[in-house]
Amino acid sequence: MTLLNETAAVRAGIDCDRQHGAVTPPLYLSSNYSFADLNQPRTYDYSRSGNPTRDILADALAELEQAAGGVVTSTGMSAVLLVLQLLPKGGRVVAPHDCYGGTFRLLTTWHEKGLIEVEFVDQSDTARIRQTLATPTNLLWIETPSNPLLRVVDVHALCELAGPEVLKVVDNTFLSPALQQPITLGADLVVHSTTKYINGHSDVVGGAVLGKTEELAEQLKWWANCIGITAAPFDCLLTTRGLRTLNVRMKQHLENTEQILAFLQQHPAIENIHYPGLSNHPGHEIAKRQQHHFGAMLSFELKGGLSEVKTLVNNLRYFTLAESLGGVESLICHPATMTHAAMAPQAQRAAGITDNLIRLSVGIEQADDLIADLEQALNRCLLKPLKEQVNG
Ligand SMILES: *Cc1c(COP(=O)(O)O)cnc(C)c1O
Repeated sequence: MTLLNETAAVRAGIDCDRQHGAVTPPLYLSSNYSFADLNQPRTYDYSRSGNPTRDILADALAELEQAAGGVVTSTGMSAVLLVLQLLPKGGRVVAPHDCYGGTFRLLTTWHEKGLIEVEFVDQSDTARIRQTLATPTNLLWIETPSNPLLRVVDVHALCELAGPEVLKVVDNTFLSPALQQPITLGADLVVHSTTKYINGHSDVVGGAVLGKTEELAEQLKWWANCIGITAAPFDCLLTTRGLRTLNVRMKQHLENTEQILAFLQQHPAIENIHYPGLSNHPGHEIAKRQQHHFGAMLSFELKGGLSEVKTLVNNLRYFTLAESLGGVESLICHPATMTHAAMAPQAQRAAGITDNLIRLSVGIEQADDLIADLEQALNRCLLKPLKEQVNG
């Protein structure tokens, strides 16, 4: 299975050191660079504006996303912030009703400050999105699949609907360029939290924005330098190291996910599974078309409520109870009390986030171990009410 041109990921910066022939690229920590002579700057002058270690990662990500260029930022949120710099004063943003919480908070706060106009809509509702985009719009924010219910929207159709006047951005964090390349679907910009699959080892927080055209890439670079949100060189070195194995990691993530799904589907403690690869998932056909695979994130409703959730998370050995995703290690998350805790209970219910909803980020451990772990913990969820009955 070739998910992307893995050569570009593996070879990022390899054998580029002309001075010593270092095979892996050196780490340039220097904050500044000497001028060759008066009025003769070299390629780099100051590390906020440009850094060789950072450029290796930016170039590799641009190639993988089929972009003209881009910027590596200090966090995924600073990548989001960078995109918003491209808006005119009072510009209008249309964003998904279930977008990433940090993005939602930033857009809402900017709106409340009077900096921008924002409308959040269910982008899978064609009539609704058509009506929303009928009002002149500057930026269309797309995020697919969404968190935590893995809702899928049609990137190509949305970009067509928005038309050439609207800047179209896709947050591609949940799939990475290995599984989806939004620029090929009509997007102008791609945003990543590289914290997730791209670095993949849960030891760096970082982000990136890639632009379809040279012009967009230059605007991004100008703003990144202006507001000072470029990533630290050491973070870039680690992230480039993570990126080299994106494809092989992803293959294992996907294989494990398929096996875990087959197991969960037949387990009596599970009520309902949300995964775009399932034929009953509302976004299945679109996902099949626009993604190379369905991904390694899934969520499900457990039979019962908080008490069963507690039993499950407390009895797992290989699924760590933590936020974030996309690392080599498997994680379990309870959106209602963790990632989506800031939402009011009513808003949570409207978004489909119930007390018995669980999200898994499937890691690359041995699948048998993960399944055995889930099995013993899920079996306890079934036993508990019986015991209570006996005791009661
Ligand atoms: C994590 C995440 C972000 C924010 O990235 P940080 O690196 O945590 O700042 C943005 N979008 C999505 C979809 C994410 O999962």
